[in-house]
Amino acid sequence: GAQKDRAVTEAEWLRKWETGNIGFHKERGHPLLQKYLDVLLNGRSGLRIFFPLCGKAVEMKWLADMGHSVVGVEVSEQALKEFFAEHKLPYCEEPVPEISGAKRFQSTSGNISLYCCSIYDLSSSIIGKFDGVWDRGALVAVNPCDRQRYVSLMITLLEKNAAYLLVTVSYDPNKHKGPPFYVPESEVKSLFG
Ligand code: SAH
Repeated sequence: GAQKDRAVTEAEWLRKWETGNIGFHKERGHPLLQKYLDVLLNGRSGLRIFFPLCGKAVEMKWLADMGHSVVGVEVSEQALKEFFAEHKLPYCEEPVPEISGAKRFQSTSGNISLYCCSIYDLSSSIIGKFDGVWDRGALVAVNPCDRQRYVSLMITLLEKNAAYLLVTVSYDPNKHKGPPFYVPESEVKSLFG
């Protein structure tokens, strides 16, 4: 469709963070996570939950406070530092031996681990597999040409009984250039198979 060839570079994302052009960030968290929390957890406790393209999503703090362990990935180091600062969470920072240039920010309490690198640098051998995924502003932020690669990677990160919550947006792709990009339901189905 209209957005097929559109691409946002990593440098452009970093610039959005530097200039505070982050209208996507929801200070009070996303109402759909509250609404569908039971679907994500399905009565289970102590889950490993993945936040692809996490930004400084406050939902990471919510789930960690409920006793789950949270892993996120984000290219902007500024976003990750703001996350820890805004929640007054002490953290430590270390290199990731498997990925050159990547850093891992881990809360001192240990249950929030955020990777500063591209999601395409990760694999289940580095971050393991997950019981749940909160995909908001992630599939819809990925460049249209990278969607299948992104989804194929996400599938390799899922445990057998994983729950995957996906938020998309519906609008006329001829009227806005995105991101967020328009990913129709039919495409979601074919991407995930
Ligand atoms: N999910 C978050 C942020 C959405 S905006 C929320 O709900 O608030 C998309 C984020 O993805 C931006 O912060 C951007 O810096 C980051 N990003 C873009 N491409 C990425 C990539 N390839 N790997 C990791 N993070 C990426």
